Amino acid sequence: MKKIVIAIDGYSACGKSTTAKRVASILGYTYIDSGAMYRAVTLYFLRNHVSQTNKVEINKALDNIEITFQVNQKTEQTETYLNGLNVENEIREMAISNQVSQVSSIKEVRDAMVAQQRKLGKKKGVVMDGRDIGTVVFADAELKIFMNADIYVRSSRRQAEFLAKDQLVDLEDIIENLKQRDLMDTTREESPLIQAEDAIVVDTTFMTLDEQVEEVVNLALSKIIGHNEEEMVS
Ligand code: C5P
Repeated sequence: MKKIVIAIDGYSACGKSTTAKRVASILGYTYIDSGAMYRAVTLYFLRNHVSQTNKVEINKALDNIEITFQVNQKTEQTETYLNGLNVENEIREMAISNQVSQVSSIKEVRDAMVAQQRKLGKKKGVVMDGRDIGTVVFADAELKIFMNADIYVRSSRRQAEFLAKDQLVDLEDIIENLKQRDLMDTTREESPLIQAEDAIVVDTTFMTLDEQVEEVVNLALSKIIGHNEEEMVS
């Protein structure tokens, strides 16, 4: 069966990655978390005190960064590796969340990440979530989803994720972080978060995870089947 590219963009913490992971697993596709890549770059920049304004330092740092993904055999979850080291937990911490939108607004950082993301999705059969997947990375993706949800719903879901990892994070801090990131991500010069013209909006405020997954899988299947029909006609 013909494989397609599924791009899932939207605001922070509205269920993109959880949905994307499940959809990928149901379809037998590869899931790529593009946000994790920007988070890993941010971790590297903070650990190595890389200036966010000095282009020479930024380019040198980018040359030294290798980001890979590996499936954890126990949890069956894809985890992020920075230069061979598992950084999955560190990149989810608030210290990174508070800096990532600044780092992801740097043109050189975006150029490097977009090039890697395109390589990862070249063979299709991928579900990639982020902010510019349907507009920039895969502007010709067969299925584009734009996700949103109420800010309080998003924040409580994120707080529950932290709690599941035994971390108690103040709800107000999460709300503030999400608002800040949304603002920076939608107003930056370099490929800001905008809804692609041909994207289908999925508002997850009143949806369960199962419902979100079902909706995206159904949309994907209609594209995949439609695709085959188009092929048979031509
Ligand atoms: O998806 P996640 O919330 O982990 O992404 C973290 C940050 O990475 C976003 O707030 C955004 O600044 C940046 N990002 C981006 N483009 C993407 C994915 C993420 O700028 N495609």
